[in-house]
Amino acid sequence: MRIAIIGAGMAGILSAVKLTEAGLTDVTVYEKADRLGGTWRENTYPGISCDVPSHLYSYSFHLNPNWSHPYSPGEEIQAYLEDVARAHQVDELIRFGEEVIECAWRDRQWHLETSGGLHDEVDFVIAATGVLHHPNYPGIEGIETFGGAIFHSSQWDHRVAIDGARVGIVGTGSTAVQMVSAVVDRARKLSLFQRTPQWIMPQENPAYGEEERADWIQNPQKLQKLHGNLSELFAGFANGIVDAESPQMKMIADLCRQNLEVKVTDPVLREKLRPNYRAACKRLVISPNFYESVQKANAELVTEPIERIETRGVRTDDGRLHDLDVLVLATGFKVDAFMRPMSVIGRDGKDLSQAWADRPNAYLSISIPDFPNFVMLNGPNGPVGNFSLIEVAEMQFDYIKQLIDLVHSGECREISPTQVAMDQFETERVEAAATTIWSTGCRSWYLDDRGIPATWPWSFDRFRAEMERPKMVAYDRRG
Ligand code: NAP
Repeated sequence: MRIAIIGAGMAGILSAVKLTEAGLTDVTVYEKADRLGGTWRENTYPGISCDVPSHLYSYSFHLNPNWSHPYSPGEEIQAYLEDVARAHQVDELIRFGEEVIECAWRDRQWHLETSGGLHDEVDFVIAATGVLHHPNYPGIEGIETFGGAIFHSSQWDHRVAIDGARVGIVGTGSTAVQMVSAVVDRARKLSLFQRTPQWIMPQENPAYGEEERADWIQNPQKLQKLHGNLSELFAGFANGIVDAESPQMKMIADLCRQNLEVKVTDPVLREKLRPNYRAACKRLVISPNFYESVQKANAELVTEPIERIETRGVRTDDGRLHDLDVLVLATGFKVDAFMRPMSVIGRDGKDLSQAWADRPNAYLSISIPDFPNFVMLNGPNGPVGNFSLIEVAEMQFDYIKQLIDLVHSGECREISPTQVAMDQFETERVEAAATTIWSTGCRSWYLDDRGIPATWPWSFDRFRAEMERPKMVAYDRRG
C-alpha cells in the first residue's frame, strides 16, 4: 500500500506519524517549501502565537512539558512540529521543494506530478494542504504605487526596519490584533486601519515557571490530564457556538463587553471599537492587551474608510493622508482554495474544478464523490472556531485510517462517498448553519459566497461521534 501525503504542516506530520506507527511505511510527504510547519513556517509576524492553549494545541501522542506560556509564540510551535517530525522519524519521508501540481486517478491509482518533475503512483492520497495559506490581497486602488515597504502578514519581510518607523496595519482580525500589541512599542507611529471593529475576549498569558515545567516532565500523567481537561473545556465552548442562544455565547458576549467598557476609557474611541454584531459571529479574537495598545500615545485607530494608497501612505475618505514607511496587509486569506491550484482529476475524468464549480464541499469534510481513495484533513466544512485544529485533525485521521484499512485489507480497492450521502450531508449542513452564531449578521471568512457558514454547524460532540466509525452505507466501494 503506497500513500502520498500532500503538505508537511501540522496535519501532514500527524498523518505520517500515525501511518508509520500503524506499519504503513511506504509513505511520501510532498512539501512545496524547503521546511515543514505549514502555517507556523509561513507566519512569522511579530506577536504571532496560537490563541488555543498550547497544551491543547499539541498532538495527544506527543505532549510537550516545555511550553513557555499558556499561549505560546509561533516560533515555539514551529520548533515543536520539527521536533515531533524528528522524534518520530517522519522528517525522512518528506520530499521538500516538490509541489504536487497534478493528481489524476487512472488504472485504479493516483498519478502525481510535481513541480520538480517527479512522478509517483500511489494507492491513497491524503491532502493535508491547509486552509489559511493563500493571502487575500485587498484590491485597494493605488496599492502598487506605495513607496515604502508593503507586504501581507503571512509574508513578513524581516529585512524591513520596524523600530522607529511609521507603520500602518490594514485589518482587525486575529492576526492584526496580535501584531498591534507587538509593534506599537517599536514603531514611532502605528496606524491601525479598521474596516470593522472586533469583539476582544480578554486572556492573560503569564509565562510558566520552571517548577511547573519540571513537574510536567516528572509527572507526564499530569500533562495528559491537563490536555484532557482543556479538551473538555473547549468542546463545551464548541458545543455552545453552534447555538446562538446558548449560555456559553451569552457569557462570551458579557466578557467581551466588559473588556471594552473597562479597558477603553475614551468614550469616542470606545464607540469606534464597539462592534454592531454579536460576539463570536466572526472568529473570536483573544488578546491580553489589544485595548491598552491602541490607547498608547503613538497609536491611532483609523476608522475612515481607505480611499486609496499613494506613494507616501494611505489616503482615507476624509481626504487625510496617513504618511507611512511600512504598510502591513493583515487582510486574511482566500479560504476556498484548499489544495488548489493543484489539478485533481478523479474517476472518469471528473475534474475537481467541476465538482467544486459552485463552492468546495466534502462529505463529512473528508472526501468527495468520484474521487476514490482521496481524503482531506481540515478540508471544506469542517469544525473551525476557537479550538484545536490538531484535535480535529487527529479525529479526522482516525476516521480516514479506517477507510485506508478497507483498501489495505483488500475489502475493496476503491472507496469514495456516494453522491446521495454527499447531497444529504450538504442539505442538512446548510439547514443547521442557520442557527449558529456565525449566521447572526456579520461578514467573516467563515461565510461562503451565499453568506452561509462554510463550517461544521453541529456540536463538537456530534463531530467526535461521527469520526468514530464510517457509516458504510454512505460509501461507494468497488472491488
Ligand atoms: P481575517 O480574520 O480574515 O481578518 C482580515 C481583516 O482584514 C478584517 O479585519 C477585514 O475587515 C480586513 N480587510 C480585508 N480586506 C480589506 C480591505 N480591502 N480593506 C480594509 N480591510 C480589509 O484574517 P486574519 O486576521 O489573518 O485571521 C484569519 C484567521 O487566521 C483567523 O480567523 C484564525 O482562524 C487564524 N489565525 C489564528 C491565530 C491564532 O492565534 N490561532 C492568529 C492569527 C490568525 P472586515 O472585518 O471588515 O472584513
